[in-house]
Amino acid sequence: MNTEIESRLFIDGQFADAADGAQFDSLAPACGTLICRVAAAGVADIDRAVAAARKAFDLGVWRHATLQHRKQVLFQLAQLVEAQAEQLAQLESLDTGKPIRDARAVDIVGSVQMIRWFAESVDKLYDEIAPTQASVVAQIRRVPLGVVAAVTPWNFPLLTALTKIIPALAIGNSVVLKPSELAPLSCLYLARLSVLAGLPAGVLNVVPGSGEVAGAALGLHADVDALLFTGSTATGKRFMQYSGASNLKKVSLECGGKSANIVLNDCLDIDKAVAATANGIFFNAGQICNAGSRLILQRGIAPVFKQKLIAQMTQFFPGDPAESTTVLGSMISVAHADKVRAMIAEAQEQGAVVLAPLPAWNAPPQLDAAAWVLPTLLDQVENHMRIAQEEVFGPVLAIIEVDHVDEAIAIANDSQYGLAAAIWTADMRLAHLAQQALHVGFVWINSVRAGHIATPFGGVKQSGSGRDKSLHAFDNVSYLKTSWHDYS
Ligand code: NAD
Repeated sequence: MNTEIESRLFIDGQFADAADGAQFDSLAPACGTLICRVAAAGVADIDRAVAAARKAFDLGVWRHATLQHRKQVLFQLAQLVEAQAEQLAQLESLDTGKPIRDARAVDIVGSVQMIRWFAESVDKLYDEIAPTQASVVAQIRRVPLGVVAAVTPWNFPLLTALTKIIPALAIGNSVVLKPSELAPLSCLYLARLSVLAGLPAGVLNVVPGSGEVAGAALGLHADVDALLFTGSTATGKRFMQYSGASNLKKVSLECGGKSANIVLNDCLDIDKAVAATANGIFFNAGQICNAGSRLILQRGIAPVFKQKLIAQMTQFFPGDPAESTTVLGSMISVAHADKVRAMIAEAQEQGAVVLAPLPAWNAPPQLDAAAWVLPTLLDQVENHMRIAQEEVFGPVLAIIEVDHVDEAIAIANDSQYGLAAAIWTADMRLAHLAQQALHVGFVWINSVRAGHIATPFGGVKQSGSGRDKSLHAFDNVSYLKTSWHDYS
C-alpha cells in the first residue's frame, strides 16, 4: 500500500483536490513544523460528497447488501487498521502531539476494537412486534436514516470519528465525515483503507476543511438526514441552529464537560484514587472531554490526598511525543496552550494557588516548548471561578474542599455541564444515593474516567444529547419504522 500521507478529499471513492483548489496547513504541534498541505472542502465539495452518499444510499449498494457482507467488509477494515497500526499511530502522534505510546495503546487499539464491536453487532439487532390485537401484526423495525454526516474534534481524531461512523455504516447508512482541520490525516488514511476493505464508492466520504465552511455546509445541508457531532458546546449549539434553519435533521451532540471527582474521607484505597485522579486529568495533556477536572476533596482526607497527588503528578513528565517513554505530549497548538496558560493566570488572580509547581522544562531544540503545559494543581479554588465553571481542556486540576458530601454533590451539579462525575467512598449506600443525585450521563464509583465500548457515553445539560458506544449508539443513526399489518 502507498504509505505517503494522503491529503486530498475523498469523495465517491476517489481522492481529489478541492473544487476551488483551497488548502490549509497541517502542522505537527510538538515542533511547529508543516506536515503537509491538506485540501480544504468548500461548499461545492460538500455538495458533491453528500450527493455521492445519497446516490450510494438510494442505489442500495451498501444498505441492501446482506448483513454478512457488511459485517465482513467492516471486519476487513478492522484488520487493515490493525495491520497499519504503527503507521496510523505515528501519524496520529505527529498530527496531535500526543505521546506515541498513547496513540498506539489507546487510539489505534481502541479504533480496531470499535470497528470489530459494531461489525459484530450488525446481525444481532432484533426488531419488535408490538402487543396490539390478534388480527394485527404491528412490526417495529430499526432502519437507517440515509445520509449521516459526522463532524469531529482533534483530541482522538481517528477513534472519535470511528465512534461516530461505524455504527452509522454498520446499520446501512452512507456517511460524510468532516474531521477536525487540526488533525485530519488519520481519517484520510482510513478512507484509503476503506477502499481496500471493499466499502462501495460513495458510502464513506471524508472531507477535511474548516468548521465555518465545511462543517457549517454539512450542518445546513438539506439532504443530510443526521448530524453526529463531537466538539465544544459552543459549536454544538450551532449545529442545533443549523438543523432548525435547514431540514430539521436529527442532531446528536457530544460536547464539553467539567466533571467533578469527589473524594470522601472514607475513601477505601487512597493510592488507587490518587493514581486514577492524576490519570483522569493529565492523560492526553488533559485534552479529554470527560477529564475529572474538578477535584472535590472532603476536608479530612485533603492534606494526605494532595501530598500523594503532588508525587503522582511528577510521573507525567514531558518529552518528545515520538519517544516511547514520553508520557506528556504537547497541546494541539500553541494557541490552545496559550489559552490554557491564560486560564491558569486568571485563576491565580482570583485567589487560586498553584500547588507544588513543577520545575521549568528544558525542551530539546527540535520541540516547541510553547506548545506544552505542564501538569498544574490549582488549590483553594471556589466553584464560582471561571477555572471551575469553564472547560480548560488542559492538564489543570481545580481543587475544591468541602465539609460534607451534600456540599460536594451540590458543587458537582453546579455546572452548565453534565457529562460525568466520580465519587470515592467505602459507604455503598451513600454511593448509591450520590449516583442518583449527580446530574450527569456517567457516574464512576470508586473509579474515574473508566469506560468500555459496551457502556453508553454522553451527557446531559450543555454536555449534549445522544449516546455514543454500546447498542444505544444505533439510536443516533436510525429511526423506528412501524408497519401495521391487518389480517382481519
Ligand atoms: P470544536 O467545537 O472547535 O470543533 C469540533 C468540530 O467542529 C471540528 O471539526 C470543527 O471544524 C467543527 N466546527 C468548529 N466550528 C464550527 C462551526 N461554526 N460550524 C460547524 N462546524 C464547526 O471543538 P474542538 O476544539 O475540535 O474539540 C474540543 C472540544 O470537544 C472540547 O470542548 C471537548 O470537550 C469536546 N469533546 C467532547 C467529547 C464528548 O464525547 N463529549 C469528546 C471529545 C471532545
